[in-house]
Amino acid sequence: MGKKRLLWQLYPSYLIIILVSLLAITWYASRSLRQFYYKQTAADLEARAQLIENQFREQLIPAETNSVDSLCQELGRKSSTRITVILPSGKVIGDSEEDPANMDNHADRPEIRQAQAGNIGASVRFSHTLQEDMMYVAVPIEKDGAIFGVLRTSIPVTSISLALADIYSKIAIGGFLVAMLAATISLVISRRLSRPLEEMRQGAERFAEGDLSRKLAVPDSQEIGALAEAMNQMAAQLDERIRIVVQQRNEQEAVLASMVEGVIAINKDERLISLNQAAGRLLGADPHKTPGKGLHEVVRNVDLQQFVARVLVSVEPLEGEIVLHQDSERYLQAHGAPLRDGQGQNIGALVVLNDVTRLRKLENIRRDFVANVSHELKTPITAIKAAVETLLDGAIYKPDEARRFLKIATKQADRLNAIIEDLLTLSRIEQGAEAAEILLGKYGIETVLSAAIQTCRIKAIAKDIELELTCRDGIRAMINPPLMEQAIINLLDNALKYSEPKSSVQVSGAQSDTEVIIQVRDYGCGIGKDHLPRLFERFYRVDKARSRRLGGTGLGLAIVKHIVQAHGGSVNVESVPGRGSCFSIHLPIV
Ligand code: ADP
Repeated sequence: MGKKRLLWQLYPSYLIIILVSLLAITWYASRSLRQFYYKQTAADLEARAQLIENQFREQLIPAETNSVDSLCQELGRKSSTRITVILPSGKVIGDSEEDPANMDNHADRPEIRQAQAGNIGASVRFSHTLQEDMMYVAVPIEKDGAIFGVLRTSIPVTSISLALADIYSKIAIGGFLVAMLAATISLVISRRLSRPLEEMRQGAERFAEGDLSRKLAVPDSQEIGALAEAMNQMAAQLDERIRIVVQQRNEQEAVLASMVEGVIAINKDERLISLNQAAGRLLGADPHKTPGKGLHEVVRNVDLQQFVARVLVSVEPLEGEIVLHQDSERYLQAHGAPLRDGQGQNIGALVVLNDVTRLRKLENIRRDFVANVSHELKTPITAIKAAVETLLDGAIYKPDEARRFLKIATKQADRLNAIIEDLLTLSRIEQGAEAAEILLGKYGIETVLSAAIQTCRIKAIAKDIELELTCRDGIRAMINPPLMEQAIINLLDNALKYSEPKSSVQVSGAQSDTEVIIQVRDYGCGIGKDHLPRLFERFYRVDKARSRRLGGTGLGLAIVKHIVQAHGGSVNVESVPGRGSCFSIHLPIV
């Protein structure tokens, strides 16, 4: 702003130097010329005076005034010079231009005074007689050391001035042409000096904008060339450093992005410095849009904000737990530590988040499972103990009662056995699946379905329920036949248990492009929508009393789920209360 271009700083300076020099030279030259001209003219006038001095000396000794005047006029005409003769008294006795009688005494004229003193007098002055500027040169007319008069030659200065003016105008024109030429040359020189600098300025601006690939042209001038080379070198180093920094940043970003843990860096004002992909996923934020934003703007979670606030004031690493209330609850384990820069200054906090939701759920499942198992085992044991105690209290002596209580004890023992059998089956399947010990082979589905139906036929007949099988021939899947049969039996067992007598249960096997689907459909009591998500959990029952009464362990569907999962498939249920249920097993086609 307000800064001049180098060209407009150099060029006017050159112009001023040229003009001042030219004016000084012109002034000095014209002054010298004028002096030279005057000196020449004075010498010329003196020579003329000296030439004719003899003639006048003869006329003045003795003085012949009349002839002096006529001689003056004659010589003056011949030499185009005004010639005047003055007596020592200052009286003019002869003049080539005027009548001496009309001329005043000339004793006071400087040139006359000098001549009377025996010297050669010279003066330039305005002549009142001729009304113009004149140059006078006076020489004494002397004989034997005595001065008899003064001979003065003079010419008008105007002629000198005219001659000088002519020369001056030539000098002026010449000077003007030289000045123009010099101005043009200095413009070219200024441009040549400033252009490489201007190009370097543009190059430096390109560098500043980040375009470090285009090099500056190196000018011929040693200094500017060295500057351009230095700048090119600087740009190359800068380019290399930026490349390294970008590479390091990319590597860091790649490391952070690949981390399973969420990483959040926060400055002291609780604004986000960075947030990796995993943290973005966990907190539902876009990692690219968050830097610079306040933590509370990005994540509205009191736990996290309080944890970060604690880490920011703490000097020690901290650990905490954060619960995210999203669609479902998520549990995060948080590790926080002060964030320090290269100099060890505390600049904020670093928080690492671990999603422990699955672990937490597993823990809960295990805890619930232990509680459920204990509870499930306790019920029959309590019943057996009560029956045995009643027997001991005397019922043993009453055969009818003794039989009744022994039957109860047997039934409860069977129940215990059933629960333990189911638990063992479950754990066998789980262990087998984990150790990949469950052998699968390509078998026909129909055989498995028929075998299962066969097993359940007695129960079906007992309740007068019709069992129907529809399965296209040749449908095969990768299965472990005994396990799959067990799963179908469990589903059929439930269908029969929860159906009214005289209804029907349909078993079907079908195949699509991607999977084999086995369905068990009943028209029984159905299951409420609220229960469906938890139906396959261990010991989950819709109606506990009814299930127990019907001899259920609450593990049947859990076993089905584990068997299907061990086959790489999935199981789901559709059910309408009062209308019936349909369980579907989906097995992938390999
Ligand atoms: P249970 O041994 O009690 O039958 P399951 O794990 O086999 O245990 O089933 C869990 C619960 O799901 C049952 O208690 C029952 O309430 C419900 N259920 C299972 N199958 C059906 C069905 N076909 N119709 C209605 N309810 C069912």
